[in-house]
Amino acid sequence: MDLKRVVNSVYNEIKPSIGKGKVADYIPALANIPINKFGIAVKTNDGNIYSAGDINEPFSIQSISKVLLLTLAMDFIGDDIWNRVGREPSGNPFNSLVQLERENGIPRNPFINAGSLVITDMVISHSNDAKKLLLDFVRNLSNNPSVNYDFEVAQSEKEHGFRNAALANFMKSYGNIENQVELVLDYYFHHCSLSMSCIDLVNTFSYLANSGIDVNSGKRILSKELNQRVNSLMLTCGLYDAVGDFAYRVGLPAKSGVGGGIITVVPNEMIIAVWSPGLDKVGNSVIGIDALEKFVKLTNKSIF
Ligand code: GLU
Repeated sequence: MDLKRVVNSVYNEIKPSIGKGKVADYIPALANIPINKFGIAVKTNDGNIYSAGDINEPFSIQSISKVLLLTLAMDFIGDDIWNRVGREPSGNPFNSLVQLERENGIPRNPFINAGSLVITDMVISHSNDAKKLLLDFVRNLSNNPSVNYDFEVAQSEKEHGFRNAALANFMKSYGNIENQVELVLDYYFHHCSLSMSCIDLVNTFSYLANSGIDVNSGKRILSKELNQRVNSLMLTCGLYDAVGDFAYRVGLPAKSGVGGGIITVVPNEMIIAVWSPGLDKVGNSVIGIDALEKFVKLTNKSIF
């Protein structure tokens, strides 16, 4: 398959629609991101990268960071994480509070905000310097020492993150947050603020498509079994309450973020990163999903 041609076709087909959707403005520092951006990068398990558009421009990865935190927590704790977080799609918005009360402070899955706050808490409990741990992890995987938190975005979310504060406090009242709420929120806002490009993302997440082994270094990041499970969770919970629609249109494990990025896994073959900041109502990149749908149509790479 000529992936260079496929990626260029996707780019050319998407080009007229660039600018669709609405930039996330509930985090004020994200409101000024120009909407007319689009990038697509594909990294195959043999190490080749095919790309088009704004692929070197760093953007706020937001909820895509939840995959990194889950990877660290699974590696530290293994299956015991499921005592504190579920693994079912929520069918509710990513920042919803309603289910938590009915379900006694146990979030539905690690990719909604409540679930990621619990995972974030676990990682803090297992490291002396969680921010440094994550930064070292991402810099190594991306092979880019300049990857960093965007402190302005983190601060902006801290100042406006009342709902996340409510979620964390609520779960603390059920005993499902171990560390100080302020500490957990601070780390959560920082990991969401990680600023990375499409190229950084395909380098970082290549292990997801490669049975848990980083393609560049050959280093094992997760066991084959745990890696499979992260992919399963992405398939069932990775796109908020639009996960069914995404499975219908694309049919691959993926994780989106409100910065407009989406990482998508073709198991045992390749990892794809797309970015376009215009979002739909549930918080997924409009053009990003269109691009992935076109990619799958051209390559027939859905897992179904
Ligand atoms: N930091 C964002 C929040 O907590 C992440 C949301 C997202 O990307 O889904 O609202």
